[in-house]
Amino acid sequence: MALFPTYSRFPVAVQQAKGTTVEDINGKKYLDFGSGIGVVNLGHRHPTVQKAVEEQLNLYWHVSNLYHNPIQETVATEITANSVGDYVFFCNSGAEANEAAIKLARKATGKDKIITFGKSFHGRTFATMAATGQDKVRIGFGKMLEEFAYATYNDIASVKKVADDNTAAIMLEVVQGEGGVILAEEAFIKDIVTLCKAKGILLIVDEIQTGIGRTGKKFGYEHYGIEPDIFTLAKGLGNGLPIGAMVAKKALGEHFGSGAHGSTFGGNPLAMSAANAVSSIVFKDSFLQEVVAKAEYLAQLLQEHIAPLFKVKAIRQKGFMVGIECDEAVGPHVVSLIDQGLLTLNAGENVLRLLPPLTASKEELHQAVQLIKVVLK
Ligand code: PLP
Repeated sequence: MALFPTYSRFPVAVQQAKGTTVEDINGKKYLDFGSGIGVVNLGHRHPTVQKAVEEQLNLYWHVSNLYHNPIQETVATEITANSVGDYVFFCNSGAEANEAAIKLARKATGKDKIITFGKSFHGRTFATMAATGQDKVRIGFGKMLEEFAYATYNDIASVKKVADDNTAAIMLEVVQGEGGVILAEEAFIKDIVTLCKAKGILLIVDEIQTGIGRTGKKFGYEHYGIEPDIFTLAKGLGNGLPIGAMVAKKALGEHFGSGAHGSTFGGNPLAMSAANAVSSIVFKDSFLQEVVAKAEYLAQLLQEHIAPLFKVKAIRQKGFMVGIECDEAVGPHVVSLIDQGLLTLNAGENVLRLLPPLTASKEELHQAVQLIKVVLK
């Protein structure tokens, strides 16, 4: 094997995929309730996205950011028209989007410290690894960047303890995905906003997992009625093509002027064509209403069939983001579910995580819950 063994891989090699269904090289079919870790929000090879990418393939594949890129402008307009942001910078991944956010916050405020939270996940580059509040991501890499401070999620007192005059930003997920599908409490987010306003601290919301319809809203911050200064996107924005975006308020625009930041591939036309198709679907109210209705149906199924199981301690859900907390490690259950034909994820040791495509049908939701019931029983 010539690959670095950075991933402990499950025994599945995919041959093809369509909608919610993935087929492996032996012809075995699975329902994909991981969506490539919250990426194919519209299901695999969504026809509108596929058509857009195929059309772009026949036009051109790459153009330097030295030249105008009309698709970037179109998608940026779509994102800002549907959010509280005014300016967008495109890159290639979630970690890169967060890097851009950290750089912008520091440059705009002239301050250094970024406050993040225990159990957060923000990426694996040097700065985003430091931002991530999980030792397992940081161990072995020596001294972390010093300008990060960590507070306890849903505990405003712990944030106040580390917020000082050198604090540029507070960065958080409104639902901690990798950390165990942990929902931010409404009062906590309100207190964070108040603190930010009082101390001139910027609020960065990492929407890499929660954005693009995943929680039943266009962006997760909408659940809290807040306006982050900066938010970041990736995963679902390209529905499988690599893309990231850092979105910020107008007042921050002047701090990312010519030469302040850049990327060779960021905003690549193929990824942008996918994002253009994705936004034409996901930002429609009718689409999101259907997601919310199906999420309610899924909640009922989980309450009826999964909550009563002996092993299940709690079920947490925001839209199509579900965590089933068990009283034991869920790794073996993820493997058993693969045998049963269902792809799921873990989030930390004890949480079985479901991130189905937003396009999954009620029948598929029902089928998946029955398989989980069999395995967790
Ligand atoms: N932020 C959050 C909330 C994530 O869930 C992830 C990936 O799981 C990242 C950042 C990093 O994204 P990427 O793997 O594209 O760098």
